[in-house]
Amino acid sequence: MPPLTMHAMLLDAARQPLRIAELPLPEPGPQQLRLRVTACGVCRTDLHIVDGELTDPKLPLVLGHEIVGRVEALGAEVEGFAIGDRVGVPWLGFTDGTCPYCRTGRENLCDDARFTGYQIDGGYASHTLADARYCFHLPEGYSDAEAAPLLCAGLIGYRSLKMTGDARRLGIYGFGAAAHIVAQVARHQGRQIFAFTRPVDGQAQAFARELGAVWAGGSDEAPPEALDAAIIFAPIGALVPAALKALRKGGVVVCGGIHMSDIPNFPYDLLWEERVLRSVANLTREDAHEFLALAPKVPVKTTVVPMPLIEANQALDRLRKGQLTGAAVLVP
Ligand SMILES: [Zn+2]
Ligand SMILES: [Zn+2]
Repeated sequence: MPPLTMHAMLLDAARQPLRIAELPLPEPGPQQLRLRVTACGVCRTDLHIVDGELTDPKLPLVLGHEIVGRVEALGAEVEGFAIGDRVGVPWLGFTDGTCPYCRTGRENLCDDARFTGYQIDGGYASHTLADARYCFHLPEGYSDAEAAPLLCAGLIGYRSLKMTGDARRLGIYGFGAAAHIVAQVARHQGRQIFAFTRPVDGQAQAFARELGAVWAGGSDEAPPEALDAAIIFAPIGALVPAALKALRKGGVVVCGGIHMSDIPNFPYDLLWEERVLRSVANLTREDAHEFLALAPKVPVKTTVVPMPLIEANQALDRLRKGQLTGAAVLVP
């Protein structure tokens, strides 16, 4: 009998297109699940890896860290999951549990963290292995494709939103997959959304208004009122001084992306008066439990663009060119 195999879209090196490959079907280790992948979201982080802007991937690599799948096999020490369960796998794939960050509730900053679709093969594939301790049951009421963007756009977006404290007037720069989820949660919490898009992107502005933004305009425009906080999802450093300029005294700018172009010089006046500039890195499992419980209560609706797995290169290209309304999701 021939050995069982799986297929995947494989990254051999940065700045090369992914290629389809047939690989041996892996056996799960003691703590692992083997999933039959049913959907995997395409995230801007994947683009940063392909483009060589994130420089520490395992190679060759299977991208993808918004994985929805069904448990097909599991290791002897796995707890809380059974064959056939629907499971979500996020970016945070492993932490050591012992470093100073892990011991103080900040496992997102773990010194020895490993990330799905970066140092661990991810979900641009028919099957994948995942450490069950970092996997989640998913809320009902979402199809597999609809649930996929909750796992990064949703989780990182939610963590970014938490970092804005009790801000009522909230600016969002870059209205893609993360923003479309955050906007719904923020509105549910009684906040007002001011959406900033590429200057002439009428389609993104209309999408933002549909999701309840009280104002939508170009990132070169000033909002009609000073903002309490702003989240920047677009990977453009020039938006940092723009967002600081839009803040009231004591406001905070949260950079929600993993990579950004250089931030241009700006006068200290923009930061003065206790304005705060900070980033958000990764997620904790606590963020995931909170957000996955909250999402169906809002209820967060995800706008997805399903595409066949073999079209992963085209999906990445459309994301790069800003040609997606909502989140691309690969379906094997
Ligand atoms: Zn740690
Ligand atoms: Zn992501």
